[in-house]
This record gives sequence, structure tokens and C-alpha cells, in this order.
Amino acid sequence: KKKPLPKPKWMKESIPGGDKYVQIKKKLRDLKLHTVCEEAKCPNLGECWSGGETGTATATIMILGDTCTRGCRFCNVKTSRTPPPPDPNEPTNVAEAIASWGLDYVVITSVDRDDLPDQGSGHFAQTVLKLKEVEAKYAYRSVGRAACDMIPDFRGNRGFVEEVAKSGLDVFAHNIETVEELQSAVRDHRANFKQSLDVLMMAKECAPAGTLTKTSVMLGCGETPDQVVSTMEKVRAAGVDVMTFGQYMRPSKRHMPVSEYITPEAFGKYRVLGMDMVCVTFL
Ligand code: SF4
Repeated sequence: KKKPLPKPKWMKESIPGGDKYVQIKKKLRDLKLHTVCEEAKCPNLGECWSGGETGTATATIMILGDTCTRGCRFCNVKTSRTPPPPDPNEPTNVAEAIASWGLDYVVITSVDRDDLPDQGSGHFAQTVLKLKEVEAKYAYRSVGRAACDMIPDFRGNRGFVEEVAKSGLDVFAHNIETVEELQSAVRDHRANFKQSLDVLMMAKECAPAGTLTKTSVMLGCGETPDQVVSTMEKVRAAGVDVMTFGQYMRPSKRHMPVSEYITPEAFGKYRVLGMDMVCVTFL
């Protein structure tokens, strides 16, 4: 049996704490809300919630419950074919909680709900609309922007994608998760590279002008540098505005192993390459 790779010295995790962290944690429990930060056991939770070195406090609220109908091999979220129905009060609770925290940047994410007739798109759009109402009421949103992240693929249904893309979000983000070649090894069988790129293109076409599209990949899943570059080119050719890279961290021994810890220098090279692609496209 292969031993897990030791964590390299450049990776450090901060212990969660501080006033902001305690305030967010209490409100989440009071309103029965979930965050992907906790469900995914993210090692950066403490830093994001308290503002970290940048002072920009961020939280990622997970809507449509804490149970997903899919089973991606890297993900720690609970799964079931028949999760409980969504809480109808969730859109209002999420909006009120976010306004009370005064966060700089909000990410709304959700589990995939293949069991619902609209795959949860109506609930998602309703949450963004409520958030916008509350922002207007409290004249909130002084610093950052409310974003939506990790929007499901809605199985490529244009009507569902359009409903969310037109709900008033600032960033429509849907993650391709990994390079094209590793999709079936990493993601649930109902997700794939083409469907995800199509969703991002649909969102760009129907969202109001100025809405950004964004996607992310995890590195360290077994991809080669050439595969990363070719995936970046395809994402750029699909007109996606922002692409981010992260290191895959194995949540438990049940999940796929980390194949490699990517060095800060390698991340830096992808960054330079990505910026060159953007410049070439806009020339
Ligand atoms: Fe996790 Fe995959 Fe479900 Fe997203 S779709 S919450 S990554 S299992």
C-alpha cells in the first residue's frame, strides 16, 4: 500500500479563532446554515473567516442542504440519492446572516440536487435575489461584492442556468475541478468537461453585461503540466473571465490520494502563463 505524501514545509494551517470567527460560527448554528468551509474540512477556514493577512473576510455559505446527490472522489460533503427537501426559509436566513456579518466577500455555493425537478436552480436564484434585497435595505456591500461560486452544472439545462445567471449575482462561477483528461477519475459520472464549459458559456451569454464568469481547478490530482496548459487554453477559448488554481488536499483516507504537492514556483508559472493568455486575448 502506497504511503500518503508528507506535507511540504511551505504548507501551514492556522488555528481558527478571533471575534469574527466566533460571531460567524454562532450565527450559522442559530439559523441552521451550512458552510462548505466546515463540510469540506477546509484547512483555510480560520484565515478566510477572520480576514487573514489581507483583512478581507470571506465565507462560503452552502445552500440547498448539507447533502449532495453526487459523489465526487475528492469531496467530503455527505451524499444521498434522496436528501431532505430544501428549507424554504433558507434564502431569507442566508441573506440576513450575511448582512449581519458585514463580510467583504460572500460566496454562495450549493450541493448538487439531481433529485429536484429544477435541480435547485429556483432556490439558488431566490437566495441571490433575497441577498440583493437585504443589501439594499441595509445599504450594505460597502467593500466587496457578493459572488456566487460552485454553481451546479444543472446537467447543462439552459433554462436553469439562465435563471441563476440573471438573478443579480456578480460572479457566475462553476468549477471544472480538474484537467480534461482526469474528469471521470475525479468527478461524479454525471459531470464532465464539455458540459461544464457549456454551462460557463451559457452563463456568459445570458447574464447581464459586467457579470464575470469564473472556474477553478485543483492541482495535485495526477495531471501533467501539459494537460494543465491545454485546459487553460480551452477555458480561455470558452470566454471564461477568471480561472483559479488550488492544491488538492485529501479530506480523509476514503478519498483519492494527493499525487503531488505543487510548489509555489509552479503555481507562479501557471499564473504568468494565464496572464499572458488574457493579454493576448484582449489585444
Ligand atoms: Fe461535492 Fe461533487 Fe457534490 Fe459538489 S457535486 S458538493 S464536489 S460531491
